[in-house]
Amino acid sequence: MRVENPQLRARLAGWGVEHRPDQRLAEWTSLGVGGTTDVLVIRQAQCLPDLIGALEVEGLRWRLLGGGSNLLVREGELPWVVLHLSARGRQPEFLGTRVRVQAAADLGRTVTECARQNLGGMEGLIGVPGSMGGALRMNAGAYGIEIGQFVRTVTVYRAAGNRIETISAGEAGFRYRQSAIAPDDIMIEAELELLPKPYDEIRASIRMSNQKRRASQPLNEKSAGCIFKNPRGASVGKMIDELGLKGHRVGGAVVSERHANFFINRFGATADDLLRLIDFIKERIRQAFGYELEGEVILWTD
Ligand SMILES: Cc1cc2nc3c(=O)[nH]c(=O)nc-3n(C[C@H](O)[C@H](O)[C@H](O)COP(=O)(O)OP(=O)(O)OC[C@H]3O[C@@H](n4cnc5c(N)ncnc54)[C@H](O)[C@@H]3O)c2cc1C
Repeated sequence: MRVENPQLRARLAGWGVEHRPDQRLAEWTSLGVGGTTDVLVIRQAQCLPDLIGALEVEGLRWRLLGGGSNLLVREGELPWVVLHLSARGRQPEFLGTRVRVQAAADLGRTVTECARQNLGGMEGLIGVPGSMGGALRMNAGAYGIEIGQFVRTVTVYRAAGNRIETISAGEAGFRYRQSAIAPDDIMIEAELELLPKPYDEIRASIRMSNQKRRASQPLNEKSAGCIFKNPRGASVGKMIDELGLKGHRVGGAVVSERHANFFINRFGATADDLLRLIDFIKERIRQAFGYELEGEVILWTD
């Protein structure tokens, strides 16, 4: 989708929004798959009500991209423009055991910046790629913790009402790999409450999380992390392994040999290859174990 109207382009520039035409989303996503559209890089979130209002008047649909590490995007000319919050020049603000952090900030960098202030708790999240905003939307978690448990408030642009407001963690409704934030709401910043801890202790547990991750995940290949959510009390990776489907290939897409719930774009996979692999594995799990698997990866395939 192209932003063609010169008046709208001038307004974008006025709001400090950088217009990057014809971007291949394959280059913006960790799976390395996805077609072409215009990307609007937003430096001042305060412009969101005006910006979204203007896109709507223009009849331009939009999607919001964080770090692109949990997305499977279709090929071809995409029917929506992509909004992306810029992290440039923004530092976390510390207030005792609380930190206020921008949604655009890198999650891993935030964990290490907090560590330097002797604030811990989130060490297990080190190595989860992507932005704070994406992590909040997905309620990213690893090694027994989830980001939602540290959140006090979230400042969010609400599409219904076209305004920015601050809501409590309760209203944000964090659950296993999801939140109750509406799909077209945009998180702008969050206030977290962390645990005071000595720096060396935090550093040691960061190192341990990194080691575990390196030993169990295909970090050198293109993936979007776990493809499916684990049903309560069960592990999708283990089930796929038990079915002997590690290494199973559809076109250029492969089930990782290292972690069977990671699907890899190893041989120039298309979105269609990945979708066919997802359907195939879903069906095999349904037949063998009776689970209807739910996707953890977000599909931008419509
Ligand atoms: C190698 C690897 C390992 C991973 N390990 C883990 C893991 O251990 N645990 C885990 O939970 N995940 C893991 N993931 C998945 C992924 O990193 C997380 O889901 C991450 O939090 C997504 O953040 P993102 O910024 O990349 O989001 P994106 O992929 O850009 O977007 C994901 C969704 O969030 C929405 N979104 C993004 N920013 C905002 C915002 N500001 N406001 C509202 N919505 C927003 C998008 O619209 C989209 O719907 C892994 C991925 C990879 C590639």
